[in-house]
Amino acid sequence: AAKGDGRGVHRFYAETMLEGARSRKRMEEDLRIAIAQGQFHLAYQPVVSTHDARIVGYEALLRWTHPTQGDIPPGQFVPVAEECGLIEQIGEWVMRTACMEAASWPLPARVAVNVSSVQFAKPNLSALVAQALAQSGLAPSRLELEITESVFLRDDQESERQFAALKALGVRLALDDFGTGYSSLGYLRHAPFDKIKIDQSFVRGAVGSGNRNAAIIRAIVTLADTLGMETTAEGVELQDEIELIRELGCSHIQGFVYGRPVPVAEVHRMLDDGDAHAEPVGLKSMRRT
Ligand code: C2E
Ligand code: MG
Ligand code: MG
Ligand code: MG
Repeated sequence: AAKGDGRGVHRFYAETMLEGARSRKRMEEDLRIAIAQGQFHLAYQPVVSTHDARIVGYEALLRWTHPTQGDIPPGQFVPVAEECGLIEQIGEWVMRTACMEAASWPLPARVAVNVSSVQFAKPNLSALVAQALAQSGLAPSRLELEITESVFLRDDQESERQFAALKALGVRLALDDFGTGYSSLGYLRHAPFDKIKIDQSFVRGAVGSGNRNAAIIRAIVTLADTLGMETTAEGVELQDEIELIRELGCSHIQGFVYGRPVPVAEVHRMLDDGDAHAEPVGLKSMRRT
């Protein structure tokens, strides 16, 4: 029976893989159409200072409204776009659009743009960023590029050249999803980050005595402080977490507690009374039943 089951399982996986390959192919075709027909837009999520609850900027998050399937989350289509080489074109659109839209905001809030490790590996990235800045008129200091630890899996010297080229433009660099990657801490010695974004997995459930997540956040903040880097706690959802994150010394908070990603028109509404003060919304704490 075991043998028969084994073959069955094997066939099941083979079919699943084939099915996966087919749906990836279909998505690739749909992504090409999406690029041509402009089915993308950016949503912006506020980044708030723990010091005075001001909105210091927004992270631009890519949104795809598929004509028949509706909204498809970036976690699903970005990896496919990276695999089939479409992320370059899409990423260029994101860079230009984010710079253009942020340049017209009523307050000089920053905009953070996610850069795929595939884009980071291209020598022309800094030229592309320079062009987006020049065409939009956005001050370089208002642009923050978010990259993940996966860029360090590539050649060290190439990475350092890329970092230097980007810093030379005057833009800010943030290390995204910190603590979830595979790399050692060694890269922090040379990489010129302005900010570390602490992954939501550490923030989730950090409230509570003797909590290990809180200890890890505290250690990351100490490290970042010593290296002269800011820290953003990602994925803060509860009002009780705001106080804890502040106590742990994080300089910024980003999460549903201060707002979900919203269309650019909403950013204008938030900023155009000249008061970028953020109010917490939603649950105060986790209901434990
Ligand atoms: P990320 O860069 O770490 O972005 C933060 C993600 O966390 C966003 O998901 C955001 O909606 C979500 N988030 C923020 N606050 C909370 C919270 O309080 N609770 C929970 N549960 N989630 C929260 P989103 O928009 O689905 O994006 C997922 C990922 O897709 C991003 O993670 C980023 O890696 C990638 N991505 C998004 N836009 C782009 C883009 O323009 N280019 C590239 N290359 N990747 C992108
Ligand atoms: Mg990000
Ligand atoms: Mg992140
Ligand atoms: Mg306001």
